[in-house]
Amino acid sequence: MTINKLHSLFLKHPTVDTDTRKIRENSIFFALKGENFNGNFFALKALKNGAKYAIVDEDLNTNNEHIINVTDVLKTLQQLATYHRNYLSIPIIGLTGSNGKTTTKELMHAVLHKKYNCTATVGNLNNHIGVPLTLLSMNDETEIGIVEMGANHLKEIELLSDIAQPNYGLITNFGKAHLEGFGGLEGVIKGKSELYNYIKDSKGIVFVNQHDPIQIKQAKGLNQIGIDSSIQLVNSQPFVKVSFEDLQIQSNLIGDYNFNNIALAITIGNYFKVNKNQIKEALETYIPTNNRSQIIKKKSNKIILDAYNANPSSMRVALENFNTLKEQPKIVILGDMFELGTTSNEEHQTISELAENLNFEKIFLVGENFSSIKTRKASNFESFSEFINNIDFSTFKHSTILIKGSRGMALERVLDFL
Ligand code: ATP
Ligand code: MG
Repeated sequence: MTINKLHSLFLKHPTVDTDTRKIRENSIFFALKGENFNGNFFALKALKNGAKYAIVDEDLNTNNEHIINVTDVLKTLQQLATYHRNYLSIPIIGLTGSNGKTTTKELMHAVLHKKYNCTATVGNLNNHIGVPLTLLSMNDETEIGIVEMGANHLKEIELLSDIAQPNYGLITNFGKAHLEGFGGLEGVIKGKSELYNYIKDSKGIVFVNQHDPIQIKQAKGLNQIGIDSSIQLVNSQPFVKVSFEDLQIQSNLIGDYNFNNIALAITIGNYFKVNKNQIKEALETYIPTNNRSQIIKKKSNKIILDAYNANPSSMRVALENFNTLKEQPKIVILGDMFELGTTSNEEHQTISELAENLNFEKIFLVGENFSSIKTRKASNFESFSEFINNIDFSTFKHSTILIKGSRGMALERVLDFL
């Protein structure tokens, strides 16, 4: 079946499913293959569960006319998404970066939604499957699309840009994340800049943080818009407050590093002519979820829960920001950082030393990686269970506690013990 024909079918049945356990009525099921599963085996089940059509790439030996055979289901999904993106012909903003993509995406969505019917990536669906699904979640009513693009190796952002064909691009930052797959920071810069390359070739526009020397260098020669110069950080004690023209905007986000994310969202709102009071309202009512920079009060303690993810860059800014908070005493609970390849030991050592040199009462390091480094003041534990079995949490009183680690460490589990 041609993509054109498949798209006509999609317009009649505009819901795409990839998981037979969550089939929606009259959807089109794409039988993707994963490491542990082959969607082709579930195609008939998908139809039985309510899907209208199933797209497969293996011979299922059936005459069922609701089964559509293609050469490669994943490629077909990606091509359909691009076809649909061109059919809609709306402005698409693509964003990538090492840290802060989802936060910036949600802030931008909140701001743009004040004026436009804006559709953005749901949650963190930012890979070669998530990006097509995001594009296919847009419809005739959508006026602006925001597509988060994630990558852990080179050429991934190039592929995602080719699929989403963004007219606007932004890179939140270049940091030490997924060092293993990118082969170091140079690789990260090259990989993220694939979005800039796409925008350059298609003569689109990039929003750049002109205070970041790497961004300036990488965005040379592109049509670009910098962060509005009237946007200034007022303070972050603990929530980031910014000024924008004559307005003061009080966010619910912790940490100086969120200033960049907020400034980008304001700049983009301003560019798309969202009224500045509405920009303020959108930013002031946005509350982060999913263990990202949340403040939680438990007994006499105040907890900064940032257990969603961690890498050397975001660990560093989180620690430095935590150090600036005036409350005392302060306790730090850090979990392992993953995907660091050969630099893993060194990066864990550096983070531990940074924490030891700042003004914290107690430092706990949890996980295999942290347990194999040398510490002076910090206590390290090989596993989460070793940590909770050896610490008397009832001694934590009237303290401010930072909790941060990679997703796989699921450090939010500490909350049950505090
Ligand atoms: P992922 O790669 O998982 O999609 P992401 O880039 O979408 O991550 P967010 O989910 O927005 O990032 O934020 C994850 C964590 O990164 C935050 O909880 C915070 O600790 C940190 N972070 C957010 N913004 C920045 C920033 N501008 N600079 C450094 N660290 C940041
Ligand atoms: Mg994300």
